[in-house]
Amino acid sequence: MLDAAIKTQLETLFTGLNHTIELVIEQSAHPKQGELLEMLDEVASTSSDIKVRKVETESKVPRFAIHKDGRETGIVFQGIPGGHEFTSFIVALLNTSGKGKLPDSGLVNRIKRIQPVNVRTYVSLSCESCPDIVQAFNQIVLSHGGITHTMIDGEHVPEELKELGIQGVPSVWIGDEMIHSGRGNLAELIGKLEDKFADKGEAPREHSLGHYVVAVLGGGPAGASAAIYSVRKGVSTLLVAEKLGGQVQETKGIENLISVKYTEGPELASNIYKHLKEYPVEVLEHRRVQSITDKGATKEVRLDSGEVFTCDTLIVATGAKWRELGIPGEKEYI
Ligand SMILES: Cc1cc2nc3c(=O)[nH]c(=O)nc-3n(C[C@H](O)[C@H](O)[C@H](O)COP(=O)(O)OP(=O)(O)OC[C@H]3O[C@@H](n4cnc5c(N)ncnc54)[C@H](O)[C@@H]3O)c2cc1C
Repeated sequence: MLDAAIKTQLETLFTGLNHTIELVIEQSAHPKQGELLEMLDEVASTSSDIKVRKVETESKVPRFAIHKDGRETGIVFQGIPGGHEFTSFIVALLNTSGKGKLPDSGLVNRIKRIQPVNVRTYVSLSCESCPDIVQAFNQIVLSHGGITHTMIDGEHVPEELKELGIQGVPSVWIGDEMIHSGRGNLAELIGKLEDKFADKGEAPREHSLGHYVVAVLGGGPAGASAAIYSVRKGVSTLLVAEKLGGQVQETKGIENLISVKYTEGPELASNIYKHLKEYPVEVLEHRRVQSITDKGATKEVRLDSGEVFTCDTLIVATGAKWRELGIPGEKEYI
């Protein structure tokens, strides 16, 4: 099932996981059960730290959970995480072991305020926007400890999709309520969980980040350029962005960046990030600016994560956003 090149890559990725990861698979008479078992066995064969364990519980469709050091993580895959979801599966294993990238302390601060809920994301394996959502919720699960997330391949549950009226994926549900549909990012999803499941009276714990000479709000091309120029002049620089790359992330083909004949949005966004990381710019992603107070010589900025900082110079490069029509269903479906 997995070709030799992928297995070699996985062996390298899974070197030194330092935790025992179990892929706990339920019994199923579904015709695809053998395929799932084969995939899990092959992935487990690439690391001595990953094991497959069969349990007696029965499931109508192929289904497995990720456990770490003998305990459930809350991450479940229902269906075979192939296609675009193969990456979500591998990232979940790396993040579970602590070798991947988990949200930073500012975001964990927000995630911890959310009540434990069971989240389900309906996907299709050919959907390009689905892995971002699955991976974001799996990060939330690992940072929280009480939230669970199940990726569900809609192909195996057509009746369920019909009953829920799901017409597009990714479609995210808690109980019988759809909380998100379509593209999204970690900050946006945390925000949606906070709106419904966090104690409104309890604001995120305030945390001072200190003082910077320059702070840039916005991580699109303009904000990134401003931050790089500033830090190259030798001044302490902070960049805050809800989404690094900005609108570029929404773009497919870009053909008017002089000297680069063709690139795509996510690739350009990733290069912007790499360029930023060449310099000692402090980058805070997945934050929204809540307030800016002019204190004369300094400005005080508060973020929705509870973080507060001051700066001498504030550069606002918050770009543009889609104009909203204000029609019913817009927030849920667009
Ligand atoms: C679909 C699409 C296709 C495009 N194609 C092309 C193309 O082919 N060629 C081209 O030249 N241009 C193209 N553009 C336009 C280009 O993407 C924008 O001109 C460019 O991204 C603007 O850069 P910016 O840094 O000013 O702002 P943005 O890219 O809008 O970035 C704004 C930044 O500010 C952050 N932000 C906003 N509010 C807050 C807040 N309250 N708190 C924290 N952070 C905040 C955002 O998260 C983001 O990081 C396209 C745009 C779109 C949407």
